[in-house]
Amino acid sequence: VVTVVGSINADLSAVVQRHPSPGETLHGTGGEITPGGKGANQAVAAAKLGGTVRMVGAVGTDANSEPALLELRAAGVDLTAVDEVPGPTGLAIITVDAAGENTIIVVPGANGAMDAARVTAARAAVEGAAVVISQGEIPRDGIEAIPGLVPTDARFLLNPAPVLNLERSVVLAADPLVVNEHEAQLVADQFGIASSGATAACTALLTAGVRSIVLTLGADGAVVMEHGSDSVSIPAVTVTAVDTTGAGDAFIGALALKLADGDPLVDAARFAARVGAYAVTGRGAQTSYPSAGDDLPA
Ligand code: ADP
Repeated sequence: VVTVVGSINADLSAVVQRHPSPGETLHGTGGEITPGGKGANQAVAAAKLGGTVRMVGAVGTDANSEPALLELRAAGVDLTAVDEVPGPTGLAIITVDAAGENTIIVVPGANGAMDAARVTAARAAVEGAAVVISQGEIPRDGIEAIPGLVPTDARFLLNPAPVLNLERSVVLAADPLVVNEHEAQLVADQFGIASSGATAACTALLTAGVRSIVLTLGADGAVVMEHGSDSVSIPAVTVTAVDTTGAGDAFIGALALKLADGDPLVDAARFAARVGAYAVTGRGAQTSYPSAGDDLPA
């Protein structure tokens, strides 16, 4: 079982020729509401590949909760621990211009209710999990409550995106910590580590006590670093990228699924790189994720 404690959003996107100025009204196209949020994306990625997945999160009482939950439901994710709280569902308002440049406004909405008390109340969903995942889109104290609930024989996969100022012990509980280059540097900064480059930052974080790190490098693949072992480069799978939205989340969902099956971290990361590559060949986040029967690029 993979349990995801994290965000659930509705993504509202529009395509415009250029971004509007304050006070200006422009015509656009698109206008779809699609399911998003890093937590939900990762849960859907693992479930579509055949995993047994539980989601711990919250949606609002507005009409956006249904589109936000659409793919989670379709993928068979257990939503018993998804609460409905008064107010709006998490919402991302995305505009993309002709040059592909985007602006994004994230309204946390119900995700802001995922504090320590609510996470602790969902302990039943965490107990019995082989892998528990969290990201940075719920309140800090909600994330900090997770390590204490994770069974001793389970892994806590922490993806600090965005990077919050988490208690050091929470970062040290991660096994693995999954970061992109930018996040690696920020986490190292918080540990007071001066480093040049993301790889050096990760090496220093291992020395500081982090058990294992997966550093994702976009089209350059990933690096797996485990305490006491040499680092292993995972080459990227070559594909024609159409839309990289949610590739990191597809990678993490796939990684968690394989870790829950008992695979070593390096093997899990090789599989995750193929799933991440698959995700960049299709538009959107959850809709671009592979199902168990799909051919993955090698
Ligand atoms: P994030 O979106 O969190 O910054 P990355 O961009 O590092 O994450 O992407 C996560 C993973 O997805 C990469 O490690 C890689 O395996 C895969 N990936 C991302 N972009 C590409 C690409 N253009 N071609 C092939 N694989 C990719």
